[in-house]
Amino acid sequence: MTQSNQKAPYYPKSHLLAASGVAALLSLALLVFPSSEVEAKKTTLNLELDSGADRIIQEKDDLRSPQVTEGEGSPFARIEGQNENDSAGKDAEEEKKELKASNDTQPATPAEPAWKRVTVGKGDTLSTVFAKAGLPAGLVHDVLASSKDAKQFTRLDVGHEVEFLISPQGELQSLRIKQSDLETISLDKSAKGYAFKRDLVKPDVHTAYAHGRIDSSLFTAGKEAGLSHDLIMALANIFGYDIDFALDLREGDQFDVIYEKKVVNGRQVDTGNILAARFINRGKEYTAVRFTNKTGNTSYYRADGTSMRKAFIRTPVDFARISSRFSMGRMHPILNKIRAHKGVDYAAPIGTPIKATGDGKVVEAGRKGGYGNAVVIQHGSTYQTVYGHMSRFAKGIRSGVAVKQGQIIGYVGMTGLATGPHLHYEFHVNGKYVDPLSAKLPMADPLAGPDRKRFMAQTQPLMARMDQEKPTSLAMNKQQEQQR
Ligand SMILES: [Zn+2]
Repeated sequence: MTQSNQKAPYYPKSHLLAASGVAALLSLALLVFPSSEVEAKKTTLNLELDSGADRIIQEKDDLRSPQVTEGEGSPFARIEGQNENDSAGKDAEEEKKELKASNDTQPATPAEPAWKRVTVGKGDTLSTVFAKAGLPAGLVHDVLASSKDAKQFTRLDVGHEVEFLISPQGELQSLRIKQSDLETISLDKSAKGYAFKRDLVKPDVHTAYAHGRIDSSLFTAGKEAGLSHDLIMALANIFGYDIDFALDLREGDQFDVIYEKKVVNGRQVDTGNILAARFINRGKEYTAVRFTNKTGNTSYYRADGTSMRKAFIRTPVDFARISSRFSMGRMHPILNKIRAHKGVDYAAPIGTPIKATGDGKVVEAGRKGGYGNAVVIQHGSTYQTVYGHMSRFAKGIRSGVAVKQGQIIGYVGMTGLATGPHLHYEFHVNGKYVDPLSAKLPMADPLAGPDRKRFMAQTQPLMARMDQEKPTSLAMNKQQEQQR
């Protein structure tokens, strides 16, 4: 335990502020912390982009509920636009299908099986869909019993089409559902029941370029640059060793990204990996290039071939706000007690995932006094990290198990001595508490030999492309339009 001789070892002002409105606690805070310190801390908390971090959390939540109405200037304006385009494309496709369908069903005496389509509505089951297609109820059972894969047809999504190929005699010949642009499942009548088949479309992989400038948050800038949610998360992960997105982001920061997009019939259906990226944070340029070495491991390296991977990542919680920093404390004139905070607090909503900051072995996972539900990870013989106040542990996290860097070990909560939900994070070097925000973090090895030669050959054109395509600030939007 941090300071076992004290009652509330990591109980700084910001913890108390989290319970704003509780007047008693607030006045206690003012009593414990002289006003000059309160002022100083306020300034830290009010850094312009701290509020951006809050917005990111908000936007993450919004992504899960797309029905939320967004105001003007919303980061989702573009997404909605894309959806419209998508559905427009689909409409055209459906029209074609319908044309084809009407051709199929046109003959006066149907001598050949014909396709019948039923769109899945709210509350539909495979039985009701069969009924809508005019097929007998008992047939559903036969179809489902035909193979163990057939039960995939029971997972129906509203709006999807179930297609039935029905013979002139009313017999079901074939059944299929297009699950996505890349996948169709079907059942075809054979001598012994119905045979299951899955057709996967292999998309063409193109590369695309995007450029963004941060005004309020990485999310907004990413959306404006046309990047998907997944790509923005990937971008944040790639630079997560060098840039603390909860703390370091500034207005005017910029990024360039070359990424894969998956295309079927000329239409983008998905995005793939980020191949190269550049991030300018507070005037400093960071580069990243994706590379698979001769042993088959894929990782991101800086453009000079040095590894971006470090033994530790700086932030255990994505998009959280730092609510209290590390301090060794001092004697308080009134209380005559040392108030220290030997870790960093990250305020985040309850349930936000917490990641192990380095590979290691869990040496403690359980109730730990004022820490509440806590995990302690041993990294080699030198380092230990501590994660406190968790609402719960991730599955399988217990003393003795090995964890990988970035693995989710638990979720933000407020167990133990905490008045608001946050992660209390400590970093120990040889048993000594160090500030995780200022610690010189150990580096991984750079590329060497033939790998390095191949990497350089691969990297040069990617970097050149980013230089070439990088728009001037005036022409930025226009160029991006053209590139898409
Ligand atoms: Zn703390």
